[in-house]
Amino acid sequence: MTVPDAVDSRILLTRLRETLAEAGEGQERLNRIVRVIAESLATEVCSVYLRRDENVLELCASQGLKPESVHLTRLRFGQGLVGRIALTATPLSTRDAQRTPGFRYMPETGEEIYSSFLGVPIQRLGEVLGVLVVQSRDQREYSDDTVYALEVVAMVLAEMAELGAFIGPGPMEIAEQHKRPFFVQGLSGQEGVAEGHVLLHEPQVVVSQPITDDPLHERARLHAAIDRLRAEVDEMLGADYLRTKGEHHDVLQAYRMFARDKGWVRRLEASIDSGLTAEVAVEKEQTATRARMNRTHDPYMRERLHDLDDLSNRLLRLLSGADQTNGREIPEDAILVARNIGPGELLDYGRRLKGVVLEEGSVGSHAAVVARALAIPLVIHATRITREAKNGDHILVDGDLGIVHLRPEDSVAAAFREKIDMRAEAQQAYAALRDKPAMTRDGAHIKLMMNAGLMADLPSLPKCGAHGVGLFRTELQFLIRSTVPRRADLAALYSRIFDSAGDRPVVFRTLDIGSDKVLPYMKRDDEPNPALGWRAIRVGLDRPGILRMQVQALIRGAKGRPLTLMFPFVAEPDEFHRARDCVLSVLAREEALGHTVPISVEVGAMLETPSLGFAPDRFFEAVDFLSIGGNDLKQFFFAADRENERVRRRYDMLSSCFLSFIEYLVQRAEEHATPLSYCGEDAGRPMEAVALAALGLRSLSMRAASIGPVKAALRAVDLGEVREVIDSVRRSGATSIRPSLENLFRAQSIPV
Ligand code: PEP
Ligand code: MG
Repeated sequence: MTVPDAVDSRILLTRLRETLAEAGEGQERLNRIVRVIAESLATEVCSVYLRRDENVLELCASQGLKPESVHLTRLRFGQGLVGRIALTATPLSTRDAQRTPGFRYMPETGEEIYSSFLGVPIQRLGEVLGVLVVQSRDQREYSDDTVYALEVVAMVLAEMAELGAFIGPGPMEIAEQHKRPFFVQGLSGQEGVAEGHVLLHEPQVVVSQPITDDPLHERARLHAAIDRLRAEVDEMLGADYLRTKGEHHDVLQAYRMFARDKGWVRRLEASIDSGLTAEVAVEKEQTATRARMNRTHDPYMRERLHDLDDLSNRLLRLLSGADQTNGREIPEDAILVARNIGPGELLDYGRRLKGVVLEEGSVGSHAAVVARALAIPLVIHATRITREAKNGDHILVDGDLGIVHLRPEDSVAAAFREKIDMRAEAQQAYAALRDKPAMTRDGAHIKLMMNAGLMADLPSLPKCGAHGVGLFRTELQFLIRSTVPRRADLAALYSRIFDSAGDRPVVFRTLDIGSDKVLPYMKRDDEPNPALGWRAIRVGLDRPGILRMQVQALIRGAKGRPLTLMFPFVAEPDEFHRARDCVLSVLAREEALGHTVPISVEVGAMLETPSLGFAPDRFFEAVDFLSIGGNDLKQFFFAADRENERVRRRYDMLSSCFLSFIEYLVQRAEEHATPLSYCGEDAGRPMEAVALAALGLRSLSMRAASIGPVKAALRAVDLGEVREVIDSVRRSGATSIRPSLENLFRAQSIPV
């Protein structure tokens, strides 16, 4: 039998508000709430399960289930239908609970007599706090309206500050939670170390009134706040310092688009009309965004959802008046702590921050791009940090190692300060080396180049003393836009890069998209193994329009200056030949059209797949140069995903197998007088850089911050001695060169 269940969430909320307004102790109030919900929805059962700790839910109030099961029945996340709702953070509705896969019978509750079941997560800002359930004897089909109404009620419950009190005594030790030291090992998003005090990014909005009986008034408040939000975003876009940094501007344009999104505003209005105040309407929308964010693996979509989340935070602060303190009274040594942060908000804080710690984030995220431009340490994947940190807490951030110490013991803070001092001293020493050559004790000159990807990276070029840019990752410009950049814009950007580099050479790598770098406007079939899939030059050759457009922009941006470009991920010589033919034909066409062409054009390939190392001699003669992309080469050499934390550190570049392969590549390049360089991350580590130099590499490209340490190590070594170490370890049959090299470095006090 199907019982219609027309539900007006406003009437339900009005009744709930009356209940909330009544006096009473926590449990009593919660009992009244479940009673009101059950009556309003005409269900026999209404229960609230709350999260007791990380993994356990406890039945905290019920109308309809046996009273003795309250505070007794517990479920793990993922266990039973309730646990599943908590785990997936999505509603679940069924006419026949006992026949629904995953159902778990709990005899103490007496629930076997109820058939239909509807449960929704109680969540606030993406964190699941519990589950709200209604059940009835009949095989009822809950309508979308009922699901929506229950979600709205769950939103109101989530706002109840005293929710934690219902859980009762237990091992949570909530009071202690924010006093003890807390350590977290995350990942490095940007190097550097900082000590300071926590500045929480998320608004600490306490919603005193989640329900409204005056939707018109709430709508007016919402619209006034949205108008201010739009004005703020426009103002941000107009700021002088943003105008000069092209990439930030593009990120913000996408952001502005969201602020004007009609669908978003309509959904907020619908929540208000259903009886929620404007703040809770925004939080409801934000909760949905975060749930989507958790479900999507597409990095581009996640970035866009973060932008939307960022915008919701801003709107919440405007509505609650919390913006008065945010962004204006930033303490001097503020370290921003956030679940995640959008580029706009991070730019807003700007250079007033000493560091950033994110619970989520990724190395390629917009926030990381901005943190790099601001040159502040960034730690990502700092699990639980937003739950542990309180505003003003003492915090230490080690962006080199991806470590965060919150409320550290004095001894930890003292040791950390030593590290900060040593780093500052080392920076000074590196600065003193800036104009000195990277020449080893036995007279080998190594060319040190810098890796870059944004206009904002270029100021580091003269500062770090690099010979030039050995790898300019052009895809970053594409990744931060929502549409294909126009040729004229790209040409202007490339021209600015040439201008900033001055006499120093820049090696532009053509688009390396695919794998984890997904562009929204390029249709992508779901690939079972994207790192081995349709990426980089494969895309360029299949979609020559984009490659041609980019080459044209590079030629025009060069304005007659020498142009050096290389293709990523070449696996077979033929791919290089076809791509180079494309460059030559664009060049001829540009010339025919009367455009100024570069005085010289050098075309190289990245060697990122083992196959290319065994290419016929003709290939080594045809390329103007080769650059070893060690990040990818290592991943394919060892068959170990560079993005997978479980395996990515398992294989060492200093393994004798890998070094022997590098030696072979050096020999082949020497035979054909092909210039060879190395531009993977390992080139920026002193010991690895020294090993590469000992094997014969004379050009290394790395992050700007690595130039100093690598130069200092190179100037202190004798490559002949290093070579002897490598050879003797290989003769001995040992797998890794590292221990012996470490001994040599230690014995000779070579800095690492
Ligand atoms: C590499 O693979 O080593 C490289 C430099 O390219 P990317 O890290 O951009 O893939
Ligand atoms: Mg690569």
